[in-house]
Amino acid sequence: MARALFLVIFLFSISTVSHNAAAREENDSHRDTVRGFSYDYTPEELAFIRTNPEIKISNEFDWPPFDFVADGKPAGFGIELMDLLAEKSGLTFTYINGYTWDELTRMFFDGELDVLHSLSITPERQKKALFSAPYYHSKHVLIHRSDTQDLHTLDDLDGKIIAMPRGWSTIEFFEVHYPQVHIIEVESSRQALEYVDQGKVAATVEQEGIAQYLITKFGFTDLTLSKWLENEELQKTSSMHFAVLKTNPILFSILDKALSNITLAEMRDLKEKWFSRAGRRIGADDVGLTPEERGWLTGKKLLTYCAPVERMPYSALNGAQPTGISADLMEIFSEHLDVKMVPVPVDSFSESIALVENGTCDLIPMVSKTRERQRYLDFTTAHSGYNVALIAREDTPFIQGISGLTGLRTGIVPHTNVFEKVISHFPKLNYRTVDTVEDCLEQVSTGRLDVAILSLPVASYYIRKKGMTNLKVAGHTNIEEDLRLAVLKGNTTLHSILSKAVRSVSLQEMEAIENKWVTLQEEPPVNYTLIWQIGGGSAAILVLVMLWNRKLARLNREIARANRKLKDNTKELEHISITDSLTSLYNRRYVEKAFELELRRTVRHRHDLAVLLIDIDFFKAINDTFGHQVGDGVLRTFANLLKTSIRTTDVLGRWGGEEFIIVCPEINIDNAVHMAKGLCRKVEQTPFDTAGTQTASFGVTAYKKGDDIHSMISRADNALYQAKTNGRNRVESVV
Ligand code: GH3
Ligand code: MG
Ligand code: MG
Repeated sequence: MARALFLVIFLFSISTVSHNAAAREENDSHRDTVRGFSYDYTPEELAFIRTNPEIKISNEFDWPPFDFVADGKPAGFGIELMDLLAEKSGLTFTYINGYTWDELTRMFFDGELDVLHSLSITPERQKKALFSAPYYHSKHVLIHRSDTQDLHTLDDLDGKIIAMPRGWSTIEFFEVHYPQVHIIEVESSRQALEYVDQGKVAATVEQEGIAQYLITKFGFTDLTLSKWLENEELQKTSSMHFAVLKTNPILFSILDKALSNITLAEMRDLKEKWFSRAGRRIGADDVGLTPEERGWLTGKKLLTYCAPVERMPYSALNGAQPTGISADLMEIFSEHLDVKMVPVPVDSFSESIALVENGTCDLIPMVSKTRERQRYLDFTTAHSGYNVALIAREDTPFIQGISGLTGLRTGIVPHTNVFEKVISHFPKLNYRTVDTVEDCLEQVSTGRLDVAILSLPVASYYIRKKGMTNLKVAGHTNIEEDLRLAVLKGNTTLHSILSKAVRSVSLQEMEAIENKWVTLQEEPPVNYTLIWQIGGGSAAILVLVMLWNRKLARLNREIARANRKLKDNTKELEHISITDSLTSLYNRRYVEKAFELELRRTVRHRHDLAVLLIDIDFFKAINDTFGHQVGDGVLRTFANLLKTSIRTTDVLGRWGGEEFIIVCPEINIDNAVHMAKGLCRKVEQTPFDTAGTQTASFGVTAYKKGDDIHSMISRADNALYQAKTNGRNRVESVV
């Protein structure tokens, strides 16, 4: 089904790129038109060129750097090489865009394509096609996750699962020589790397140059290349040629002659451009701007954003240099959108609003959406979401959410996103306001307060900065600080551009920012005064220096201990920020993030994607009959049941209360319904201790064109509602 959809989309986008118009106009005298090159073409070949046939050339949609689609046009090393061949032969090429390798190969052997390029020679292919001299050579390597230790040679793959792009000649190689290696066929090399990265498969096999290119371009920072694989048979397949069917020998010989007339310098330039670092662009072609939006941005030249002078870790200005999460995000957007982003210093949020209204700033980063603000601002989807945490001294027992604060002296900083949210959710909360974050934490650290309610990154930033190692995250709330980009209301073009930019940020990029700013780790707080004093001491007071040294050693031990503590707290913070504390499943925030990512992959690779919403039937009755504790127990058992019944690639989380969600990549609606029915039966058959038999209702939907996560969730929710109204303990789907 995916394939059919795929074909429909791309049948409309076959793009024609003509080369060498000059040659066509003057094809009476071919020799003059090809830049003075005089090849020894035979009369037959010249006649062929004069008839000026349309030559159809393959262009794969996602195999950079050889051939791929960028901004709707063919691009890559192979394409530019073909362009040179067109130029040198005087032929006109049409690139056939938007098919997978598998499809292109089939089209070629069916005679629908004249030239297939950037492929290796196999005995099977040689039966029907003529192959040019090699024009690129690189050796195959294994690509695996850096945390996988024992993969070095082909023998290490024994019994393992690897991902390979469908139709690749390497698959043939494995089937013949290493039949005990299991192969999952995927759509592209990039997808193969994604599978490795996500741990779905142990490895993939790819040419070193390509692997290196893809890893850098798409930021697969957790992947490692093995040494060249020692296997003559495999490495024989690693040179690149173009192929023409044996039924068209004249075309073949024309192109082969043209290839031999490509100069060394031309070849070197091409390779330099596509296989060296300098030639690579990162991110920009993944954003998906329309030509109008691109034009608007180009006209604008740069975007200005409000940069609070002092709002760490979100933003600060170091001289004119912006720093903080916001600055790092802007750098990513700047790269993805290919536009300069310029900070405008502001002191307060109200100043930001004023500057956006008078046009000085184009956008405000890192703002929470509120009803009030929506009257004059438009918001993108959230680029970051941070847990609101309860920070207390180390000896404080775990605090069960906001309701666990009763009797504790609680501090909160007014005029912040967190404050607004907490107060609106818990109007009866007993709290004291403390003007600054620093002061608030200080008061907890020294015992004047018991708890501080703060957003996780803010808390960890100040704890780290002030070295308040006696503090920890003692609990968390269900409140989240959602941060978005805001533009002046009605600025629809910019809003659409920025929304696309936000969506283009990869999980890796986001994680890099979170690792840098949200967690507690940092250099030890070295006591420079002490070092200076020691350094400044004269030789005459050696004894004193020795005493100092001993003191220093003790200080260092203390510092080391403090840092270990910070590290432990960090792990806890990381875990808490993505986990639901009752069930230990992923929390809603994490699922949303993972869902966004899967959806992007789905769109890019035209996969299937299904989502299941699950709600326990008559759950309230359990609480009412047996009490909350038993209710909690049922939720835990239920969570475990789901956890042990899904694939490792599915993302399972607690959506809220007694509702759960499963995001299932690469599953179509029929299979998703089947899976849900299995789960439904399993629930019914599972004993829940005190609470006895339980049932649940399932709402299922699958991705369709134009969906975002909200439209999918909304359909799943409708399906769930139907399941409830149709009698519960059942599965319904809406497509
Ligand atoms: P239905 O079949 O229509 O879904 O009925 P229901 O009773 O399951 O649905 P309803 O939404 O009326 O009730 C859900 C209850 O779940 C209400 C709430 O008190 C309870 N609940 C939510 N979160 C928790 C929790 O963490 N622990 C416990 N014990 N109960 C919870
Ligand atoms: Mg419910
Ligand atoms: Mg329910």
